Amino acid sequence: MNTKKNIAVLGAGISGLATAHWLEKENYGVTIFEAHSDAGGAMITENEDGFLIDYGPNSGLETTPLIRQIAEEVGILDQMIYANEQSNKRYILRNGELHALPTSLPAFFKTKLFSPKAKLRLMKEPFVGKSEDGYYQSIAEFVKRRLGQEFLDYAINPFVSGVFAGDAEKLSVKSAFPKLYRLEELYGGLIKGMIKGAKERKARNEDSKQNAKMFSFINGMQTFPKSIAAKLKGSINYNSVIDKIEKSGSGYKIIFTKDGIRQTAEYDLILSTIPAHVASKVLGEIDTELTKHLEALYYPPVMVLYLGFDIKDINRPLDGFGYLIPSKENRKFLGAIWSSTIFPNRAKEGKASFTIFVGGARSPHLFEMDKQKLIDEVMKQFKEITNVTADPVLMKEKLWRQAIPQYNIGYIEHERYFEKFENENPGLFLSGNYRGGISVGDCIKNSRVTADRIIGNNQI
Ligand SMILES: Cc1cc2nc3c(=O)[nH]c(=O)nc-3n(C[C@H](O)[C@H](O)[C@H](O)COP(=O)(O)OP(=O)(O)OC[C@H]3O[C@@H](n4cnc5c(N)ncnc54)[C@H](O)[C@@H]3O)c2cc1C
Repeated sequence: MNTKKNIAVLGAGISGLATAHWLEKENYGVTIFEAHSDAGGAMITENEDGFLIDYGPNSGLETTPLIRQIAEEVGILDQMIYANEQSNKRYILRNGELHALPTSLPAFFKTKLFSPKAKLRLMKEPFVGKSEDGYYQSIAEFVKRRLGQEFLDYAINPFVSGVFAGDAEKLSVKSAFPKLYRLEELYGGLIKGMIKGAKERKARNEDSKQNAKMFSFINGMQTFPKSIAAKLKGSINYNSVIDKIEKSGSGYKIIFTKDGIRQTAEYDLILSTIPAHVASKVLGEIDTELTKHLEALYYPPVMVLYLGFDIKDINRPLDGFGYLIPSKENRKFLGAIWSSTIFPNRAKEGKASFTIFVGGARSPHLFEMDKQKLIDEVMKQFKEITNVTADPVLMKEKLWRQAIPQYNIGYIEHERYFEKFENENPGLFLSGNYRGGISVGDCIKNSRVTADRIIGNNQI
């Protein structure tokens, strides 16, 4: 029997809101608690002086039809936009020069991004044997073994910082890049896996996940969570900081502070989507072991710099998504997205805009420097690499002190404990980007899985 119990969702980021959306469709009563005054969490969009600034995700990959489904159900399908075709081109810095990442076999043979020796080394990949355990193998170890050191240094190292702001030596290949590891597990290698996988997809009439389209919204990424929030029937308690969750009868008591006043509320079910480092404190009294697992998840700091320039001051074509910088190049930033090339409406007429990422798991120590000195050095290097001669007409910054959870080696032990915790505490669910993937697409996929878990649990 389904009794449609009342559920409290902690956090109005995309994970919490999307799960609430699915639950309401099944007639659950949902109440959301959110520390901030607005919906979105990591998705923050601002307008300033004709520039549209995304301080969190600049885009998402449409890896699931659920993204369009939600957009349609909350009435924003007509605001959804796809990236300009030019943004398929991505650059990598090597020896101070930007090289386009090759996307075809002839381009691969021609590129100066990889040496002839590295290209030959790639050919050996189909003959490299399988590894033992992907959970305890870093993505760096995996790639070095299969594809060689240079491919690690000039393709995977920058890619990993582009996705996770992560450190390739620390991220677990199976936990952080499960699809990549599956190619070895299932097919015995990456090249074999890609060929066989493509054949199998063709037979099933499916598209490759690598072909997933890059999307945003005409008024920026925050449109998504804000629009979901606006369509929810249940209340959203903004400015409500959850302090603690306690067991209460067959349900749970939430202790929270709203507008400086401590309050309590009781619910049958709780879904936590707040970051692991906050959940560790909130759920600490229920399970101290859980606290250890949540606290062990590292969220490195990332600074986002948004820059607007006069187009006339940029002395190179902005014909791509942007560029990533390998660790070996030893610069003070991870890369730059050419925001106004990718989507329309990001900069006003005659201007171009860029989003720069600094720090991450590769270089958290940078934030020990004086902030202005760091920004000055980043700007100097950015101008040199991008061939920009003048100062920006707009510069905005945001420091995410704990930006993105890292699925590092050992992550599997945390994941297993989260399952154990949920089994031992019926009605308490853990979600958010520290489970099931960090990308916007993964958060949406996971929201459906979480809603189904809650519904299934409540039907017993
Ligand atoms: C700088 C940056 C760039 C990114 N770029 C991309 C990208 O280009 N593409 C992509 O796919 N992904 C990107 N991501 C990742 C993606 O945006 C996030 O993983 C995703 O948005 C997380 O959603 P969430 O709901 O799980 O968590 P969050 O968005 O973190 O939401 C958690 C919510 O909980 C609230 N909260 C915290 N503590 C409390 C409390 N005590 N009480 C009540 N509420 C609380 C927070 O205020 C927040 O609203 C990026 C992330 C960052 C930080």
